[in-house]
Amino acid sequence: MLAVMKFGGSSVADLDKIRNVAEQCIKKWREGNQVVVVLSAMGKTTDKLLSQAAQISDMPSRREMDMLLATGEQVSVSLMAMTMIQMGVTAISLNAWQVPMYTSSAYQNAKLKRIDTERIQKELDSNKIVVVTGFQGVNKYEDVTTLGRGGSDTTAVALAAALHADVCEIYTDVDGVYTADPRIVPNARKKQEVTYEEMLELASLGAKVLHNRCVEMARRYNVKLVVKSSMMPGEGTVVKECTKMEKMLISGVATDKNIAKISVSGMKNDPESTFKLLNLMAGNNLNIDVMIQSLDHDGTKTLTFTVARADMLVAVKLLEENSSVLGNVEVSCQEDVAKVSVVGAGVSANAGVAAKMFEALSGAGINTDMITTSEIRITAVVREDEAETAMRAVHDRFAEEWM
Ligand code: ASP
Ligand code: MG
Repeated sequence: MLAVMKFGGSSVADLDKIRNVAEQCIKKWREGNQVVVVLSAMGKTTDKLLSQAAQISDMPSRREMDMLLATGEQVSVSLMAMTMIQMGVTAISLNAWQVPMYTSSAYQNAKLKRIDTERIQKELDSNKIVVVTGFQGVNKYEDVTTLGRGGSDTTAVALAAALHADVCEIYTDVDGVYTADPRIVPNARKKQEVTYEEMLELASLGAKVLHNRCVEMARRYNVKLVVKSSMMPGEGTVVKECTKMEKMLISGVATDKNIAKISVSGMKNDPESTFKLLNLMAGNNLNIDVMIQSLDHDGTKTLTFTVARADMLVAVKLLEENSSVLGNVEVSCQEDVAKVSVVGAGVSANAGVAAKMFEALSGAGINTDMITTSEIRITAVVREDEAETAMRAVHDRFAEEWM
C-alpha cells in the first residue's frame, strides 16, 4: 500500500514532536507500506515570517514573500529526514523544486498544475521514506511559489492523486472533523464521516481542519482522505463521496474571521460597471465572496463584498487606482467582520434551517450584515467580536441534529 501522511505545523512544532511523527511514519513503513510524508513549517514559523515581512512593508513583493515563506517547510522536511536516518531508516527530503511540483504563477496563491512523480517513485522504489515540503511549488519563471495559507493539505492530496496512493492521511491537532470548532464550541461532536461536498463548504468557511482546495482536489481525483490526530490514536474522520449519515440535515457550523468587507459606492447603475469591477478583481487574483448590491438615492449603486483579509489593502488600492474607470467611486473597507455559516445537505431542502439560524442569532442579540446562501449552506456576516458567540448560539439551536 502507498500512503501519503501529512502533518501540520503543530505536529512538528519541536524536535520531540518531530521524533514522535518520525516514529509513526516509520511504523507504517515497517508494516510494509510505501510512505510519502508531507510537512508544514514548524509551529508558528509561517506567522513569524509573515510578521517580519510586515515590519518591512505593508505590501511586500509577492515574489519575495514566497521565497521567504517557503523556507519554513524546508526546515521541517530536512529535520524530519535527519531524524528518520538517525533512527536507522532510509529517508530523503525533497522540496518542491526537486520533485518537481509545478504551479501557476500567482505568488502566494498558486495552484498546483503538474507533479512529476518520477523522482519520488525512484526514491520509494529504493525503499526510502520520502519527506516532501508542503505548501510550495515552482512556476514557469522557475520561481518559488506558495499555495496560500494552509496549503500543505493540498500538496498532500495532489501527491496522493499523482502517485495513485491508497490513502491520504491528514494528521492535525484535532482528532477529526467536528460539527463546529471544539475550541470554540465545547459541546461540538466528532463526525465519523463527512461528504466531500460538505467538507468543501466547511473548509472554505474556515473550519480550519482542511485547506479548501485540498477537498476539491480529493473529490476530483477520488482520493480517500482521513483526518486524524498526530497525538492521540483513533479512527479520525473519513471524507468521501457518500456517507451513511445522509439523513443528517446539518453537518456543521463554521466561522471564518479571515475576511474583510469592502464597499464601493457611487457606481454607475448599469451591468457594465459591475462587470468591470469583478473583472478587475479577478484579473488580479483577488477572490470575492459574499456580495450584495444596493441602490442609492442618487441613482448610483453600491457594491459590498468580502475578500480575504490579507487581500484587503491590495484590493482597496486597486479599486482606488481604477476609480475613474468604474465611475469615480468611493471605496471603504472594514476589517473586524467574520462569517458564520450553517452547512449541510439539508439546508436547501428544508426551509426551516434559515429561520432556526436567525432565531438563534437574534436570541443571542447578534446583528447580521450580509447574508448569502447556496445549495448546502447559509452564511451571515457578523461583527468579528461576536463571531464565537454566534457560532455557539447557532450550534446549540441545531443541537438535536448532532445527537
Ligand atoms: N506553513 C503554511 C501555513 O502556515 C502552510 C501550511 O501550514 O499548510 O499556512
Ligand atoms: Mg493546516
